[in-house]
Amino acid sequence: MLESVCDSLWRASAPEGPKLAPLEGRHEVQVAIVGGGFTGLSAALHLAQLGLSVAVIEAQEIGFGGSGRNVGLVNAGVWLEPDQLDKTIGADAGRTLYNTLADAPELVFSLIEKYQIQCEAVRHGTLHAGVGKPGLAQLQRRCEQMQMRGAPVQLLDTAEAQTRIGSSKFNSALFDPRAGTIQPLAYARGLAKAALKEGALLFDHSPVSSVQPSSEGWIVNTPDGEVHAQKVVLATNAYSEHGVKEQARKFVPIFYSQLASQPLTSAQLAQILPNGEGVWDTCTVMSSFRLDQQGRLIFGGMGGEGGVLSNWASQRVSELFPFLNKVEWAYSWSGKIAYSEDHLPHCQQLQRGLFSVAGYSGRGIGPGTMMGKELAEWFAGKRDALSVPTTTLRNIPLRELKRLFYEVGAHTYHLGQKTHAFD
Ligand SMILES: Cc1cc2nc3c(=O)[nH]c(=O)nc-3n(C[C@H](O)[C@H](O)[C@H](O)COP(=O)(O)OP(=O)(O)OC[C@H]3O[C@@H](n4cnc5c(N)ncnc54)[C@H](O)[C@@H]3O)c2cc1C
Repeated sequence: MLESVCDSLWRASAPEGPKLAPLEGRHEVQVAIVGGGFTGLSAALHLAQLGLSVAVIEAQEIGFGGSGRNVGLVNAGVWLEPDQLDKTIGADAGRTLYNTLADAPELVFSLIEKYQIQCEAVRHGTLHAGVGKPGLAQLQRRCEQMQMRGAPVQLLDTAEAQTRIGSSKFNSALFDPRAGTIQPLAYARGLAKAALKEGALLFDHSPVSSVQPSSEGWIVNTPDGEVHAQKVVLATNAYSEHGVKEQARKFVPIFYSQLASQPLTSAQLAQILPNGEGVWDTCTVMSSFRLDQQGRLIFGGMGGEGGVLSNWASQRVSELFPFLNKVEWAYSWSGKIAYSEDHLPHCQQLQRGLFSVAGYSGRGIGPGTMMGKELAEWFAGKRDALSVPTTTLRNIPLRELKRLFYEVGAHTYHLGQKTHAFD
């Protein structure tokens, strides 16, 4: 079934990125950023807008990490339920972070508008779909807590959820009209073009081999060049490699894979997500689905790519949407999510002038864009702190074992849930 698979749909359908070159020779800037994903690119764009000199140094190509591989759901807030967020970091810090990230979709869509980023942006909301009694109870809690904080969310009843999704397998859905979907790699490439336009320097194919202190700040070294900067941000999240590999030890890497179908027929599209929302469900081993501009169904689930996941995905899709008959998958790809121990993003001041922002735990489009903007404002003296707590994270003990636990758990779930997954 997977003969026609060729890499990621996002790589196949994104407009070309900017033409960049590897870092060569010596450069001096106020801020050097390691990593060309949403966090690093948004930081560079906003720093340049504020008149600071900035260079982004990317090991591979723009959007190589999670930013070019994700589902493309531009959501507000973090994974945790709002009350849980307050419990985890305290009521005041929780409220600050909640309010900031409530505005994250607006920031993303306004940047897309301002810089005319061609990234299939659709702001028709997202649906968190309820499965079973625990799923409904979770959505009721979330809805109540979010509405108490002023969010315009709505809990859809069974009939409404099933019509909006086009499947009889869900008993409810939490609709968030602030949210939407994008083609994530196209958004990352568009942010890079916008940052260049504002005057940032961008280098690709330049793996940072070390970051060393100097009398004026820091020196960021790559095989053929060096950047001298007063401040350095490591924006490498789950993909921290080469000279910043140590950062990866602060998070558990969780794999999430996606499959994209051939374009559906107009009759099929009239039934699946007719309003164009993106969906993820309340199952412990979560899955997601959405459409792209070509009318392809993009289905994702936790775990690495491979036969088990694609068999399970085909089975799941035929249970969800029996009218599709047999789905032909045309693309398959996966990515690594950086799970922090508390499922929240963190800013770490590793040493004076050396920062890392990471740990989005699967929700980084809005938060990564927002944290990049806040970093820029902080460095420009326009704010006193970030909305995420600045912490010192320990290396996660038994990290590889925890990764295996999630991977084997997802694998077993996919093997065991071939049928009656929604019963
Ligand atoms: C499969 C998947 C689905 C997801 N779905 C969603 C979703 O629907 N909605 C949502 O909000 N979030 C989602 N996320 C999370 C989101 O994609 C990430 O949180 C976000 O992309 C993180 O952006 P970032 O810029 O911090 O890091 P990344 O985009 O991972 O960028 C890090 C970059 O650092 C570079 N790098 C690493 N080491 C070095 C080095 N030594 N030198 C130079 N460069 C280096 C890497 O090459 C990489 O390009 C998903 C993630 C995955 C993997």
